Amino acid sequence: MVLCPECETDLDIEEDEVDEGEIVSCPECGTDFEVVTTTPLELNRVEEEEEEEEAEEAEDGDYS
Ligand SMILES: [Zn+2]
Repeated sequence: MVLCPECETDLDIEEDEVDEGEIVSCPECGTDFEVVTTTPLELNRVEEEEEEEEAEEAEDGDYS
């Protein structure tokens, strides 16, 4: 069971019913969410007004 992060309505989607990158809409508040990962199911709110472009590079490179 997945709850809408906005209004906590049960979105009624299962992990195996959606694919990464798929857009799901909350029937209650109308907010769109993109499926980021399916295991576990993680949703990212789709912002229509402005595109968020975070180009920060991950600081995980310490292989010396
Ligand atoms: Zn909602």
